Amino acid sequence: MSIKELDNNYVANTYKRFQVEIVSGKGSLVYDETGKEYIDMGSGIGVTSFGICDDEWKQAVIEQLGKVQHMSNLYYTQPCAELAAMLCEKTGMKKVFFSNSGAEANECAIKVARKYAAEKKGADCYTIVTLVNSFHGRTLTTLAATGQDHYHELFQPLTPGFAHVNAGDLEELKALAKTTKIAGVLIECIQGEGGVIPLDPEYVKGVDAFCKENDIVMMVDEVQTGNGRTGELYAYMNYGIQPDVVSTAKGIGGGLPLGACLMGEKVQSVLGYGDHGSTFGGNPIACAGACSIIRRINSDLLADVKAKHDYVVKALDGAEGIEGVTGMGLMIGIKTTKPAGEVLAACIEKGVLCLTAKDKVRLLPALNIPMDVLAKAIDIIKECAKA
Ligand SMILES: *Cc1c(COP(=O)(O)O)cnc(C)c1O
Repeated sequence: MSIKELDNNYVANTYKRFQVEIVSGKGSLVYDETGKEYIDMGSGIGVTSFGICDDEWKQAVIEQLGKVQHMSNLYYTQPCAELAAMLCEKTGMKKVFFSNSGAEANECAIKVARKYAAEKKGADCYTIVTLVNSFHGRTLTTLAATGQDHYHELFQPLTPGFAHVNAGDLEELKALAKTTKIAGVLIECIQGEGGVIPLDPEYVKGVDAFCKENDIVMMVDEVQTGNGRTGELYAYMNYGIQPDVVSTAKGIGGGLPLGACLMGEKVQSVLGYGDHGSTFGGNPIACAGACSIIRRINSDLLADVKAKHDYVVKALDGAEGIEGVTGMGLMIGIKTTKPAGEVLAACIEKGVLCLTAKDKVRLLPALNIPMDVLAKAIDIIKECAKA
C-alpha cells in the first residue's frame, strides 16, 4: 500500500488531508514524494518558528539527545530550568509550568484561575469567561472554553463553569459579573482559528482593568499568537497590558511538542506540590530546542517580522480578488473574493502551502522566511486569488 493508502486505512479520519505527502524540507521550502517544491506558508500551523530543519534548533536538539532524552519531573534538568528562566526574564512573569500542547497549557491556566478564586473568594467562584468565536483547544475542558458552538455538538456534557461574551462589548462582561462569580477571563488577543481577528485595543485594556479592579485572573491564550508571531514576543505586548497568566505552545518548541503556562506575580504561588503535573512536561529535548528558539526572538527579529507584515499588506492592497488583510506580524488573514478553499487548492498546484481560518486564507510562515521567498509566495497567492 502507498503511504496515502496506509494513512487513509489506519489513521483516524479526523483530518481532511491535502493529497500531498511531505518527505523533507529546509527552512521555508518543503518537498513532496515526487520531489515537487513548495513554499511553506503555514509552518505546521505556526510551529516551526525558524523553518524546517533549522540548523541551530537541530543542533540544540541533537546535543540534548546525546545527553538525556527524558527524566521524570522528580529530578532537575538543565533545559527546562533555563527555558523557564528565559521566559520569565523576557516577560516579567514569575513561574512556568510546562506541558506538551496548547490545550494542556490552557488546562493549567484554568486550574490556576479556579484555585486562586476558590482560595480567595470561595468554592462558588469558579466561572471562566471566554469570548464568542474563540478557540482554546480540543480537550473537553478547553472545548468548553472554546466559544464556537459547532465544536461542542455531540460531545456533551462538557466541563461546566464556562461563559462566553462577545468580543468588543465590555458592558456585557460587566453585566455578567453582576450575576455570576467570575474566577478568570481568558482571551486570544488575535482570534486565530476564529478568522485572524485582532481584538480592539481599548477592549483588551478595558478587560484587563476590569479584571484588576475585581481581582479576576486575567489570562491570555498565546498558543498561536506567541513566541514572536505577531512582531512582539507575546501578542499582549502589542496591547500594553500585563496579564496574570499566559498560555503558549505551537511555535515555542520550534517543532517538538511543548506547552507552557506562565504565571505572574498575583498567581505565582497558587500551584503547590501535587496540584498539577505532566509526565512529559518540560521534556529536556523539547526544552533544549525551545531555548534555541526563544533565545533568538530578539528586537531585530521582531522588527523584521513587522516589516514583513507591512510588505505583505502593501503587496496585497487593492489586488484583484483580495478584499482585505487582517492580523499582525506574520499572523495574517486574507479575505478573498473566491472561497478560501479554492485559493488554497490553486496555491498547492503552484507550489505554495497556505492555511485557512474560517472564510480567510491564513498565513503563518516561519519568522525567518527569506524576503525573496515571501515575495514569491505572495505573488502566487495574488495570482491564485484572481477571478
Ligand atoms: C492551536 C491552539 C490551541 C490548541 O493547541 P493544541 O496544541 O492543538 O492543543 C489553543 N489555543 C489556540 C489559540 C490555538 O491556536
